Amino acid sequence: MGSDYGDQCRELRDAKREARRLHGQPCPVCVEKLPRAHPSILLPQQVCKIHKHRDPRPHDHAKTMWGIAGYERNEK
Ligand SMILES: [Zn+2]
Repeated sequence: MGSDYGDQCRELRDAKREARRLHGQPCPVCVEKLPRAHPSILLPQQVCKIHKHRDPRPHDHAKTMWGIAGYERNEK
């Protein structure tokens, strides 16, 4: 209620940044193979687009941008 589409976009963008800041970890393959480049920042179960390395931590909705933004988990 009371938030238009633009507000929602901004909320999600902030939540995404917050998720990465709190729970993001650099892809270990990036760090090993591309030490001079900025490593991909991975959230639990996220896959590095360069190396297809999947973060081994269990998926936790509360650590995703959606959980941080306050969205209910919606899965069937
Ligand atoms: Zn990587």
